[in-house]
Amino acid sequence: MILNKSYVLEKITRLTPLVTSFVFRAKDGTSVDFVPGMFAMLQYKDEKESIARAFSMANSPPADRFEFLIALIHGRLTSKLEAAKLGDVYLLSAPYGQFKFEINSGTKFLFLAGGTGIAPFLSMLRYAKSVGKKLDCSLMYSVKYSDEIIYADELKGMELEDGLRTTVTVTRPRENDIWKGETGHVNADMIKRDVPDFKERISYICGPPAFVRALKDALISLGVEEKSIKAEMWGE
Ligand SMILES: Cc1cc2nc3c(=O)[nH]c(=O)nc-3n(C[C@H](O)[C@H](O)[C@H](O)COP(=O)(O)OP(=O)(O)OC[C@H]3O[C@@H](n4cnc5c(N)ncnc54)[C@H](O)[C@@H]3O)c2cc1C
Repeated sequence: MILNKSYVLEKITRLTPLVTSFVFRAKDGTSVDFVPGMFAMLQYKDEKESIARAFSMANSPPADRFEFLIALIHGRLTSKLEAAKLGDVYLLSAPYGQFKFEINSGTKFLFLAGGTGIAPFLSMLRYAKSVGKKLDCSLMYSVKYSDEIIYADELKGMELEDGLRTTVTVTRPRENDIWKGETGHVNADMIKRDVPDFKERISYICGPPAFVRALKDALISLGVEEKSIKAEMWGE
């Protein structure tokens, strides 16, 4: 566990119009262990203000760096990050949370991600890859716009190399969109169609509150027991 440790902003990568990846490196090189799915508190501090917000780790543990996938929504902390420069120092406390990946539970997984809710799943999938664990995992990933799909190439690579099954769906396709894939919200019918053995899986849901509630209800209406569902929500 680390508390208010100094981290240097090492890398900024704009991934989509809304989402940017921020990588912070421990100033003193400390490596932090965590369970994929957990989050950190990132704190901006100057002489006038102090703002702390939660962000899920997107990288694999253990690490002396944290990667966060952050929707830049012009809020208090995200405005600071929009103006951030390499070398800036933030304070970090981690790890926190109960949304933990039970990689050794000997079961199959269903991951349901909405928007930046893909971050903890990337941590889980990257971790499984780093320890050479083959997962039986289906990912259903919903974004508003086709240009908001985060790390599409990496996910494609996991499909080809690691047997990950994915359904990516765009809920607000634009006119003349180049996207020719699935459209519409993830729902009970889509789950039944693409993941017919969903009842044999542990389901993890992460995304905005409306997404998480709708999918938890959908799974329960399909007969999934509440104890097989883990959920984390944030955003609008
Ligand atoms: C456990 C946990 C993990 C989280 N992980 C991530 C993560 O990996 N990536 C990430 O981007 N965020 C994540 N968040 C959300 C994050 O903590 C902040 O709430 C978010 O970045 C906004 O902070 P802010 O200070 O910029 O906005 P604030 O000044 O606090 O204002 C936020 C306002 O914007 C609204 N809002 C929040 N999200 C959105 C959105 N996406 N679009 C439009 N309006 C919005 C809120 O309802 C609120 O009114 C996580 C939250 C929790 C609790």
